[in-house]
Amino acid sequence: SVPRLDVVTIFPDYLAPLDLSLLGKARTGGLVDLRVHDLRAQTTDRHRTVDDAPFGGGAGMVMRPDVWERAIAATAVDGDASPDERELVVLVPTPSGRPLTQAFAQELADELAAPDVRAVIACGRYEGIDARLVPALRERADVRRVVEFSLGDFVLNGGEVAALALLEAVVRLLPGVLGNPDSVVEESFTHEAVLEYPVYTRPADWDGHEVPPVLLSGDHARVARWRREQSLRRTVERRPELVARLDGLDELDVVTLA
Ligand code: SAM
Repeated sequence: SVPRLDVVTIFPDYLAPLDLSLLGKARTGGLVDLRVHDLRAQTTDRHRTVDDAPFGGGAGMVMRPDVWERAIAATAVDGDASPDERELVVLVPTPSGRPLTQAFAQELADELAAPDVRAVIACGRYEGIDARLVPALRERADVRRVVEFSLGDFVLNGGEVAALALLEAVVRLLPGVLGNPDSVVEESFTHEAVLEYPVYTRPADWDGHEVPPVLLSGDHARVARWRREQSLRRTVERRPELVARLDGLDELDVVTLA
């Protein structure tokens, strides 16, 4: 079966970019099954209400847990003759979640490659979703795990952009999606938390801005050493907190630290 990820949102149109570029090709090529659902389809009242005032008072509105639980369960019967019985990984974007990292994206891509697992992303809006939803989902027999994840320490208006970011990071790691799987292997964060080296293309001399000569040398070993050094140097300069997590710290001797 094809890896499947569903998105539930009150703004399905926000997910229109899923038809473009690499994600669009992966979808039409049958490498991934991405579906978008309107949360309001699971409301039962005339006004299609998904939110209500917070208990305890305060600003803003909170999304109702009952509507959300129905919407997540309903993804199993979306247009299919028989319900999809795969176990669910429910992904909930929230600033209080686990930071989205390459390791997490890889973990999900591996998980979704299994035939008995699919994922649902629950995009919150307003002040977020009633806090009872996540523990209640964890008790459901059809739920394998629930992961709350964050794009970073800032506040978005809704989970849709976080869903798109997660899908971009995960889908490109699924089998067959990238034409050249080596491009994944060489990227930032893939093996370890190191940033990628700088990259260059033609023209070699662009209005007096020259490409580092080593890259034109044809000496593959020298190029590889230079790139490794650039990666380490960048990491030390731009993300010193990542260096603490590096194995083989002696390699950093290569980099002349300021
Ligand atoms: N009151 C919430 C708080 O302070 O944690 C913020 C709610 S935010 C306005 C509405 C929705 O946007 C959240 O429920 C979540 O789905 C999404 N969101 C906001 N910031 C996010 C972030 N950094 N990472 C992931 N999702 C985020």
